[in-house]
Amino acid sequence: GGGARVIDGKAVAAALRAEIARRVAALPFRPALRVIRVGEDPASVVYVRTKDRAALAAGLDSATIVLPADASEAELLETIARLNADPAVDGILVQLPLPPQIRPTVVIEAIDPAKDVDGFHPLNAGRLAAGRTDGLIPCTPKGVMHLLRHAGVPLAGARAVVLGRSQIVGRPMAQLLLAADCTVTVAHSRTRDLPAECRRAEILVAAVGRAEMVRGDWIAPGAAVIDVGMNRLPDGRLTGDVAFAEARQVAGWITPAPGGVGPMTVACLLENTLEAALARRGR
Ligand code: NDP
Repeated sequence: GGGARVIDGKAVAAALRAEIARRVAALPFRPALRVIRVGEDPASVVYVRTKDRAALAAGLDSATIVLPADASEAELLETIARLNADPAVDGILVQLPLPPQIRPTVVIEAIDPAKDVDGFHPLNAGRLAAGRTDGLIPCTPKGVMHLLRHAGVPLAGARAVVLGRSQIVGRPMAQLLLAADCTVTVAHSRTRDLPAECRRAEILVAAVGRAEMVRGDWIAPGAAVIDVGMNRLPDGRLTGDVAFAEARQVAGWITPAPGGVGPMTVACLLENTLEAALARRGR
């Protein structure tokens, strides 16, 4: 033991971004991404800047629209309506979380599903829940599937446990694993005996937002452990949902956090923007 293969998300993401850049460069037009940020949440400022830079580096047309923290829901909906109506815009992303005066469900449902590069619109979520994986799929779980396939983790018939059931990560993650013929369990805060559920997993995806909650003795020998968590410790360091040093002794594959799933999320946003652009233009 003692030797999980560490899946290098940064390297896989860099390769995916390079491939997207090549595909974009071969197009007679530039796919266009518009990211809307409301307010100055420090994490959102960083995420939006990262997405914009990655989009520009891949040759996309990218711009960020910033609304003030006290913007009304109607203002945001107007901005979305303008982007929906603009034929040059292929992808629209509203950075979450939103200030309390704005209802995220209303905003998400206002985005043209064909431009919904986050994949959160109920039409896209519904397609995925119906087993269709050819639509716009949420970036983080899509990135996890890329990592599993890249690492050569066997999927068909594998017992997969997804820790977390959020609309953004856990639920779509479970749908994608199911579509890949895994046998999927979704665990959450009301799950009885979480460690026992995790120990049954050949593929364990942790998306709970609790620093290093998943211990080494929760992991089956040889399992693929994917750590989606990004948690800020009191000392300022970032850490995942998995106790990495313990888990890597037991696991067969493991992603570091940071440096695992995070970079894939950004790369998949670019991939979704390219796919939306091709689909909208009938290519
Ligand atoms: P949410 O807070 O929306 O969901 C967390 C889920 O975990 C919920 O389903 C919740 O259960 C469950 N949960 C919380 N505490 C426990 C517990 N003690 N035991 C069991 N289950 C628990 O988070 P997100 O899904 O948005 O994100 C999860 C993590 O992933 C966060 O750390 C976030 O920062 C990170 N993240 C990383 C991204 C990346 O690009 N790397 C992108 C998005 C998120 P219940 O439903 O019962 O409340």
